[in-house]
Amino acid sequence: MKKSTIFAVILGLACAMGASVGSAHNTNIKAYWAASGIFGPFPIRGLIPSLPEDRARDITIPISMWIIDHPKGVVVFDTGNNIAISDGNCKTYWVPGNCDFLKPSQRRADVIDMQLKKLGYSVNDVKVVVTSHSHLDHIGNIEMFPNALHILQKRELYQAWWPEKFQRGSGAHVMADYDNARDFNYLAIDGDFDIYGDGAITVLDAPGHTLGNSSLKLKFRNGDTFIIAQDALWMRENLEGYPAGLNFSVKTYFESADRLKAMSDLEGAELFFGHDEQQWKEKGDRWYK
Ligand SMILES: [Zn+2]
Repeated sequence: MKKSTIFAVILGLACAMGASVGSAHNTNIKAYWAASGIFGPFPIRGLIPSLPEDRARDITIPISMWIIDHPKGVVVFDTGNNIAISDGNCKTYWVPGNCDFLKPSQRRADVIDMQLKKLGYSVNDVKVVVTSHSHLDHIGNIEMFPNALHILQKRELYQAWWPEKFQRGSGAHVMADYDNARDFNYLAIDGDFDIYGDGAITVLDAPGHTLGNSSLKLKFRNGDTFIIAQDALWMRENLEGYPAGLNFSVKTYFESADRLKAMSDLEGAELFFGHDEQQWKEKGDRWYK
């Protein structure tokens, strides 16, 4: 190969790399961290049984949902607890044991449709709904979005329709949350997926908590990167080797936790947990851009 040809190839590669990096940061997105109410107070070891006794305490935790404004359409990541449990009505809809332990305090104003309204959107403005997994505090209001494209891991759709006996027994799946959503428009993925093809919002395959659990990566125009773990990491303690107490596979759970942590370290990305009391108090209920 002639020197000039080599130079042209190298230049071409550099341009291609520059274009791909640049495009991620040229899309102007903003993201709002909302909560479908709060669970608790209850003992942290009810969720993380392996936590040492000297770290035992009572916690209250947010039910995290994210509303992401992208120029090509609004994306919602998780739809929280079903509207039916709002304002003290938990036992009309969830198994009593979950109401007694989790102590949900969702107000009607906390539900995803009202959160969208508060920010100036309606449920019909939402183009894409990503559901991290099919547990009751994440898929709860999927039926409010019949016109959206719904993105889930294919494995999670199977998980939702035939949960293992231990998950059914715990009441973690409420099939009434999604039994009327079966004919919605689904994009069943198997792995990571860049939603609008510009690197701004990427679904990350993060199984373990459930068979097809997903996390989400956001890249803002200013270069900030968020990794929104949802239940791949409930809270900071899960990063320290103490797994969530409800998992499809603890081994796969740790593989996903390690991947998200490494990705966060390598990219300098901020890691957001699904249910962390302190992080919510410091960073919840606000826009990021
Ligand atoms: Zn959860």
